[in-house]
Amino acid sequence: MNNYKILLFYKYVRVKSPALIVHEHLDWCLQNDIKGRVIFASEGVNGAVSGLNENIEEYKFHLTSYPEFIDLWFKEDDADEHAFKKMHVRLKNEIVHGDVSEHGGKRLSPEALLRLYEEGKDFVIVDARNWYESKIGKFKNAITPTMKNFRDWKKVIDDDLKAYKNKTVITYCTGGIRCEKASAYMVEKGFKDVYQLEGGIVNFIKKFPDTYWEGGMFVFDERRVVNPNSKDELKHIAHCHFCDKPTSYYINCHNVDCDKIIVSCHDCKVANEYCCSEECKASVNKRKIFHG
Ligand SMILES: [Zn+2]
Ligand SMILES: [Zn+2]
Repeated sequence: MNNYKILLFYKYVRVKSPALIVHEHLDWCLQNDIKGRVIFASEGVNGAVSGLNENIEEYKFHLTSYPEFIDLWFKEDDADEHAFKKMHVRLKNEIVHGDVSEHGGKRLSPEALLRLYEEGKDFVIVDARNWYESKIGKFKNAITPTMKNFRDWKKVIDDDLKAYKNKTVITYCTGGIRCEKASAYMVEKGFKDVYQLEGGIVNFIKKFPDTYWEGGMFVFDERRVVNPNSKDELKHIAHCHFCDKPTSYYINCHNVDCDKIIVSCHDCKVANEYCCSEECKASVNKRKIFHG
């Protein structure tokens, strides 16, 4: 019946007193029937929780009332019931499991990446996100594999990137979480000099907009796309499917049987009733909700 929602979220941010938040947070969740697991650390927050729709709305409001988490964004999914049996809130040193990062690539700060570009160093930079994410934005000269989902990463490494085993390779993703695994797999496969961008694109564009990030950044919340740059030439790298105008905006075709992701400017989106083609426009199985 979809009375429930599942939320996923994480953010790298300096948290002043994570130990205090842990106790308060657990109490709040128990009182409001929120279940799942949330990790707080001085470096940020990482969580997955479920609850009734109205409780989840309260939860988002509650968590974003902390100044550290005011711009936290949530990936949301509908559900019929709780996805978790209990509520765990933990204080840890890292928001991603330590075992993973020990085997992953070395951390590269946004400052260090900027320097590599400025000094014209020889390095390979790879987007560890899905094709529809890198289509609207990427780092300068980045390799953007056509991945449908993260499971395709192994194939990308084994087939497409094996020539770079002895080069300096940097991986990046939205917030740095996917790169833990992405870079760990490369190290495992014998890549000699692997780095992962610390805090991901989010961290870089906050510090250095209008430099080496080109286009928009795909996000999993209702904003859909974040545009960090103000220089015209760095604003968009994608073009409208219909009119070819530069844009970073995209839609899922509202014909439920199609659901294709297409880049579309606002005007064409409206003109085409949120559909990718005349055929889809004529479908009887169209989504009713228009967002964006
Ligand atoms: Zn257009
Ligand atoms: Zn379609």
